[in-house]
Amino acid sequence: MAVNSFIQGSQLFTYSGSNCIRNDYFHNECRACVDICPKDAFEIVRNRLGFVEERCIECAGCIGACPTEALQIKSFDPNAFALVRLEADVLTCKKNTPCLGVFDRHHLITMALEGPLALDLSHCSGCSLNGEGMLERSIKEQVDAAQRFLSRCGVEAPITINYAKQENLENSRRMLFRAAIEKVKEGATEESVMDMSLTRSHQKTTSSHEPLKHLHLKAAIKKHIVRFQTTTLVADDGLFFNKQITFESCTNCGDCVQFCPTDALRATPDKHGIIFGSGACIGCGICDHICKVDAISTLPEYDLVEAVFDRSRELVHYEMVKCQECRCPYPYRGGEPICDRCLDFQKNFGSMFTLARDV
Ligand code: SF4
Ligand code: SF4
Ligand code: SF4
Repeated sequence: MAVNSFIQGSQLFTYSGSNCIRNDYFHNECRACVDICPKDAFEIVRNRLGFVEERCIECAGCIGACPTEALQIKSFDPNAFALVRLEADVLTCKKNTPCLGVFDRHHLITMALEGPLALDLSHCSGCSLNGEGMLERSIKEQVDAAQRFLSRCGVEAPITINYAKQENLENSRRMLFRAAIEKVKEGATEESVMDMSLTRSHQKTTSSHEPLKHLHLKAAIKKHIVRFQTTTLVADDGLFFNKQITFESCTNCGDCVQFCPTDALRATPDKHGIIFGSGACIGCGICDHICKVDAISTLPEYDLVEAVFDRSRELVHYEMVKCQECRCPYPYRGGEPICDRCLDFQKNFGSMFTLARDV
């Protein structure tokens, strides 16, 4: 069976190679879609993502698992659904959504902040898509993570799992999707604050690859921030992250800035420093990996206000001076003004030149 290394799309979903962090950055080890797929439809081929279309059973579990929204299904948009939500207090694959694996913690928190939310998992056992319970486990993990985040913040926004079979499920999904589209159309004509922020958010996504679910979550938290008891949080929730750069080690090479997929790391306007916005970081780890001098590291806590209001901090700033050996500008860290390249050269070849001079 042939493995497609460059997935363009299938009957069910589309794939954006530039949004996939594994394919965009060769050394990234994301395999969330590979691990969740009950039919092994994804494969890693020469460290890149491959896809065997014949194996895909169109369960949509991989859509919710992908941290960057590189995978999307054509028939259902979890972001649009999470925003309008309609009167759907109970999410069920038998009435209003595909497999609930299509949602992740971002969507669940966005919805729960608007009112109590229940997920109907009564159909999972016995579902042909739920290979060895993999999808059900993943849905529960996302619910747990969303609940943990909300309870850490001291916010009353319950998400429950429902195992009792729902009655009257004969309403077709199509009716709900049609209603959702109407609602989105109505919303598009209103000049609300939410609409404005979404418009801006969307523009930002196209340039920086920050996932839309991340932008929607920030908009929802901003709207409800007065209900939050605390905003200093442990950075293990998979939602927001915090970084620092060690001044003494960083060479201002700019590699981390260049490869950051969401522009969470940016150069200062004078290019002498690096700015970080924890609201845009998706914790992909590319910056940690790419830094040759291990100058960048992840902090154990983050500030939710800083993250959702997209406030940035300057992590490092250098005075640029001319190296007295090669005359090239370099980031000065004190001591004799000699750049790292010349220091390296002296260290590795200095004895050779001394020997040559003595001979
Ligand atoms: S989960 Fe998304 S980012 Fe990760 S390997 Fe799969 S498609 Fe790429
Ligand atoms: S933190 Fe590392 S990768 Fe980023 S500019 Fe400094 S040395 Fe380069
Ligand atoms: S700051 Fe680092 S971990 Fe965060 S998105 Fe950018 S490259 Fe990934």
